[in-house]
Amino acid sequence: MRCRNTVILSVLTVWFLSYTMIAQSEAEKISPIPVAEQIYMIAGKGGNVGIFIGEDGTFLIDDNFAPLTEKIVEAIKSVGGDYPKFLINTHYHGDHTGGNENLGEGGTLIFSHDNVRERLKTGSFLKAFDAKSEATDPEGLPVVTFSEGISFHINDDTVRAIHVAHAHTDGDSFIYFEEANVIHAGDILFNGFYPFIDVNHGGSLRGTILGVDEILSLVDGNTKIIPGHGPLADRAQLESYREMLWTAYGRLRKLKADGKTAREAAASKPLADLEETWGDGVFTGDRWIELIYSGV
Ligand SMILES: [Zn+2]
Repeated sequence: MRCRNTVILSVLTVWFLSYTMIAQSEAEKISPIPVAEQIYMIAGKGGNVGIFIGEDGTFLIDDNFAPLTEKIVEAIKSVGGDYPKFLINTHYHGDHTGGNENLGEGGTLIFSHDNVRERLKTGSFLKAFDAKSEATDPEGLPVVTFSEGISFHINDDTVRAIHVAHAHTDGDSFIYFEEANVIHAGDILFNGFYPFIDVNHGGSLRGTILGVDEILSLVDGNTKIIPGHGPLADRAQLESYREMLWTAYGRLRKLKADGKTAREAAASKPLADLEETWGDGVFTGDRWIELIYSGV
């Protein structure tokens, strides 16, 4: 069992450190949450994992951190699925791709957007968390990559991976199950809190809003939405997240047009009225503004 792709921690924020540790300490109690008849979600402090089981094989969306691979496979088997036949990475971050080497070595065929493979191949540095990810070994790299999207015709459903440019990163895809009416949004959606946006790797607030709009164009009142982080969502929650992002974007654009630096913008507390609802997850408003301001 390989663990090499685990993010190497140097001086991290409390959030990133705690979320890695919690992900590992919870390894004993992974239980899949039913989303639809053959679709489950594994929630935790790493990225949420999507599981689609059926006669054609198990299709996995993201794979959390490397130490959880065995537990994820056990969880899949506990609901009647087989060892993952296919895996798709919604983006390159280590809390969504950490299990790639383990699964690739086990025979899982890995898919992703072109840019995800590039980032995994070279390794990367996340300035926001002062965190470095080593290059992924060849067996953990996506074997099939795409630029716009790809469709899987499995388990009596059509599963579409749709690329959204410059949203959370420059390589995001969200996954849409046409028959089951389920979407895995990847990190385009942090359900209930300000999202991390990786502006140093092609992400932007505006692109995230456009990504949310693309997802909204496909969902109805019955769609189940698996977010990259946070609890299972519905259309109403996605709409209120979109409204928060749009409000923040308008206010920050104005501050930027007035010549304010990120620090000055944060100091003027432009998100004060949003803080109670959105600011107690990953980031406070001040920290979030400083993180995303260059990409506004
Ligand atoms: Zn991410």
